[in-house]
Amino acid sequence: MRIDIITLFPEMCEAVMSESIIGRARKKGAVEIECHQLRDYAFDKHKRVDDSTYGGGMGMLMKAEPIALCFEDICQKFDKRPHFIYMSPKGKTLNQQRIKELAELDSICILCGHYEGVDQRLIDEFIDEEISIGDYVLTGGELPALVLADSVSRMIPGVLSDDICFSDESHFDGLLEYPQYTKPAVWRGKEVPEVLLSGHHANIEKWRREKSLEETRKKRPELLP
Ligand code: SAM
Repeated sequence: MRIDIITLFPEMCEAVMSESIIGRARKKGAVEIECHQLRDYAFDKHKRVDDSTYGGGMGMLMKAEPIALCFEDICQKFDKRPHFIYMSPKGKTLNQQRIKELAELDSICILCGHYEGVDQRLIDEFIDEEISIGDYVLTGGELPALVLADSVSRMIPGVLSDDICFSDESHFDGLLEYPQYTKPAVWRGKEVPEVLLSGHHANIEKWRREKSLEETRKKRPELLP
């Protein structure tokens, strides 16, 4: 899968996407991620990507043309039109189900907004989907874009060491994950549940399922049918 990120801060996105699991997955070619500097597509002499809003108001708005040119360039370069997503607090809230669906696409392109957001005409003409990461407002779309790129990337075969790594986790099947423990078996007088030391796989599975339901009932009861 290919993920293109259109941003005013490509170094910020690149820094995060070069580390750890996603960084390694990129190196081995399991996922291609490219961050594009939007300013490179501003062709006036000051390389302006924003301007004041019609109708008045304090804030600035991102201009439509540089974004359109950048997206068209990406489409042309890879000879396909990626699903174009604008990270926006007005979008539908991201969840694991949507992440799974997006991970099945060939390519997505993510637009990071800034200032007051983006000229509505660009959204109407180019954007396929607006996605929010929650009902609050951040200063820019980079963190939301990184949340999306990370969560989608880890669903791509070959990015995690084994599919079980994501299918066993919170939200994959609608439940929260069971509690987990590592060494030592006794830490400050607190013991690891005995069943986990038993080596009895069926009992461990049963215990995990029960704890998963218990965690969900306790922390997110609305997730249960
Ligand atoms: N004026 C916009 C509004 O009231 O809906 C908010 C603009 S916000 C200050 C600047 C940019 O940050 C947005 O264009 C968007 O890309 C990003 N952003 C902020 N909060 C977000 C959220 N909850 N989810 C996704 N993107 C967000």
